[in-house]
Amino acid sequence: MTKIYYTKPSITNLEINYIADAAANGWGEKCYDYIYRLEDLFKNHLGVKYAIATSSCTGAMHMGLAAIGVKPGDEVILADINWIASAAPISYLGAKPVFIDVLPDSWCIDPEKAEAAITPNTKAIIAVHLYGNLCEMDALQALGRRHGIPVIEDAAEAIGSIYHGRRAGSMGAFGVFSFHGTKTVTTGEGGMFVTNDHALYERVCTLSNHGRARGQVKQFWPDMIGFKYKMSNLQAALGCAQMERIDELVAKKRYIFEQYQKSFANIEGITMNPEAEDTVNGYWMPTLVFDRPFDFNRELLLHKFKQRDIDGRVFFYPLSSLPIFTNKYENSVSYHIYAKAINLPSYHDLTNEDIDRVIEVVKDYIFTQH
Ligand SMILES: *Cc1c(COP(=O)(O)O)cnc(C)c1O
Repeated sequence: MTKIYYTKPSITNLEINYIADAAANGWGEKCYDYIYRLEDLFKNHLGVKYAIATSSCTGAMHMGLAAIGVKPGDEVILADINWIASAAPISYLGAKPVFIDVLPDSWCIDPEKAEAAITPNTKAIIAVHLYGNLCEMDALQALGRRHGIPVIEDAAEAIGSIYHGRRAGSMGAFGVFSFHGTKTVTTGEGGMFVTNDHALYERVCTLSNHGRARGQVKQFWPDMIGFKYKMSNLQAALGCAQMERIDELVAKKRYIFEQYQKSFANIEGITMNPEAEDTVNGYWMPTLVFDRPFDFNRELLLHKFKQRDIDGRVFFYPLSSLPIFTNKYENSVSYHIYAKAINLPSYHDLTNEDIDRVIEVVKDYIFTQH
């Protein structure tokens, strides 16, 4: 029985050849070639004007927030159900993350509750497209315009997701992506900052180059304190191969989700990632939510997975429930959903037999325990 991971990169000869080429030849005057090529591939895929490759999504968010002027005392609004990486850069800048409840169907930020939380200190709203599910971008951008507050997209989990014809990450004041080893497109570690705003692009370019402005002709002359969140040419070589295969990578994510959906979607009490009208879900993480009549026992299902050599993965906790923040029990959707949900394995090399093994374990849990 081969182990089933919850996710794993897809590495073909294309990736290996590009990395070998970067290792052998990608130095000297060629030391940025794959980086520029990856940025171009990414811009074309997303339909945006500017892209800057970074060492992580967290770094891209940190620079983007700094570039729009987030400073100590400011507030930044985002959903409570999230990975810490979306919130940590707010804290790095001395600002305060304000955690908002999620919608019950998409598990993404509730726009009405976000609007109600706006104060004179609110500097930005971060729309995180959780597990590939899309935020209500029309409502968020409308309220952003009403209050003069930029809406930012954390699309780390949403490569392949499309909202009313526009790709996730291309709609906000800026968007950020992750190429961590668990993501649909990977460079091992890595990320991308994207925007259509020329002035913002220039500011992040300067910040990302240790504060050295692009027009600066003096050598080793920083104009301000910047950051060091660059991607290496070696990582970018891997990323180029992945972006050339993006349609194939996303198609497999969608195929795997469909297999799970066919097996579980008609069972009373179970819901999965939604795909609203006129949207496409990149389905980074297929997710099952167990409502009544289930009295969901997460540990038992995880145990059954383990017995069949399958990695289970828990749904994100409400960030406000962590000891590092302050509880916000009024975020009742968030506080109820996390213990009732689980992510299922999804990666390109998963075979039909592997998918069937996962389905069998879940069905065994559903039909023998309840
Ligand atoms: C993975 C992830 C990140 C962090 O990405 P890194 O590249 O590890 O910094 C940020 N936001 C979301 C929504 C993520 O899923």
